[in-house]
Amino acid sequence: MAAADIAFLPNGSEGTRARWKYLDKVLDRPGPFTDPDSFVPGNHETLERAKVLGAGGLGCEILKNLALSGFKDIHVIDMDTIDVSNLNRQFLFRAADVGKYKAEVAAAFVEKRVKGVQITPYCGKIQDKDEEYYKQFALIVCGLDSIEARRWINSMLVGMVDGNDPDSLKPLIDGGTEGFKGQARVIFPTMTSCIECQLDMHAPRAAVPLCTLATIPRQPQHCIEWAHIIAWEEERKEITLDTDDPEHITWLFQKASKRAEEFNIPGVTYSMTQGVVKNIIPAIASTNAIVAASCCNEAFKLLTNANPFLGFPGTDNYMMYTGDESVYTYTFEHQKKDDCPVCGEEALARPLEIDPEATLQEFVDSLAERPEAQLKTPSIRTTEKSLYIQSAADYERMTRPNLEKKMKDLTAEGEEMLVSDKAFPTMFKYVVVWKR
Ligand SMILES: [Zn+2]
Repeated sequence: MAAADIAFLPNGSEGTRARWKYLDKVLDRPGPFTDPDSFVPGNHETLERAKVLGAGGLGCEILKNLALSGFKDIHVIDMDTIDVSNLNRQFLFRAADVGKYKAEVAAAFVEKRVKGVQITPYCGKIQDKDEEYYKQFALIVCGLDSIEARRWINSMLVGMVDGNDPDSLKPLIDGGTEGFKGQARVIFPTMTSCIECQLDMHAPRAAVPLCTLATIPRQPQHCIEWAHIIAWEEERKEITLDTDDPEHITWLFQKASKRAEEFNIPGVTYSMTQGVVKNIIPAIASTNAIVAASCCNEAFKLLTNANPFLGFPGTDNYMMYTGDESVYTYTFEHQKKDDCPVCGEEALARPLEIDPEATLQEFVDSLAERPEAQLKTPSIRTTEKSLYIQSAADYERMTRPNLEKKMKDLTAEGEEMLVSDKAFPTMFKYVVVWKR
């Protein structure tokens, strides 16, 4: 590219089209993979008129990409305020912005830099908004950092679909990152595999049983957890652990190293200690950039038909990226599940393996960890009776005595079990199968 090709646009030059030169080429000419039946050359208007909603942790990247891809009417939801630790990668924020709402600062920054784009911020939770609100958008791009929020928006969008109104179907483009790994997926609610169908792709990391920590550690992380949970409690009980205090981390690191040495386990480091204790997976700027770019690229293609997009029913809908074992991407079709509690057929109940000897309390705890459920505040009913209801204080008190009873005394094999969780509007339907 010759230097002269790079459009430098000082403030006030927004009247020119020069900034969009390369974008216009993509929109004006079909590429080798463009579907000739759906391609409309020069389709700028769809893009400019489309209202899109962005939300969450990948926000800076997504907002910048959407604005620079020709989207003009962007809404953004984020509940967080700017922390000093965000400044290394969330490039729309400056030191002077610390403490202010991310959505507002980001919107103002991008509006100033990309003339003609309008960004409407909302500082709050996605759950504050209702169906009427979500109806106004052409599509929704999510870079949320929690699985709860993803499940919520997913079930909202699936619930909004009205078979008689094609406009009620809002494609959901979801991006997520964890360290060097990430994914971008496109969901056509009710038509293709939804976030709930794909829940087992986000299995929670299994907690290490206390007895492993206390007796036979196998990994360097076990030694760190031992220092964190057991040694600190025994030796420094009077001091409250402050994970931001280097002296405290150093103490844990030294304790963990000693224990690791006893058990011949290599690999305990200071930064691993910090990571385990603070339960952090570092956010990697390049992973965020790649995943956000993929999401916005899909949004652009989906609305303009300039090129085939991910997620069209019957085609690939899931792109995963791995940046720590070489730089690898893989794209596949994740299949819709007939018994999905959100988008599947209503009548279908999923088999749920339960230990008949376990107490209801143990069963409740296990629901948070099972990859296919991940319900932290479940209320449980069978067709016969309420086993444990957490949604209202009165019911909770009434059903609490059941927590000590064994599952075999509360339900029977083959019985239907209804589980709800106040975090989601979904009813999860299971059929009891005894674990043998
Ligand atoms: Zn589903």
